[in-house]
Amino acid sequence: MVRPPCQEGPGHTFALPRYMLFDLPRDVVRSVSRFRLRVHTLLIQTVTWTHNTSPTCDLCNANDVQDEQHALFHCTHPRVVSLQRTYATLFPPAGFNNVSAFLGQENNKLYFFLHALTVFLMSRLAVTLLD
Ligand SMILES: [Zn+2]
Repeated sequence: MVRPPCQEGPGHTFALPRYMLFDLPRDVVRSVSRFRLRVHTLLIQTVTWTHNTSPTCDLCNANDVQDEQHALFHCTHPRVVSLQRTYATLFPPAGFNNVSAFLGQENNKLYFFLHALTVFLMSRLAVTLLD
């Protein structure tokens, strides 16, 4: 199979994201893909297609836009904090500067954390839409 040339320069080829190289459960792969592609239920996205007009996080009192950075690092909702504690090895004391650095770490627990976070956020949206 001939691989297409890569923008990175000669010798580089396109490669699948790391998480797609592992034998992960399909629902975990789906959640990671959704988060990476911004096909998730964070208010920064859903505000464009729901009756909610504010992207401010409705899960905590931080008065912060509910985007990927907020959900990963700043949200104080008990479930999110619980997930951060369960997957504490993903959150070193020095922390990460940005979402891309966080998502780029080579720790396989990252995928299960993103899955649990995505499932929580999606279950919350389902309740909102049924109200
Ligand atoms: Zn929040």
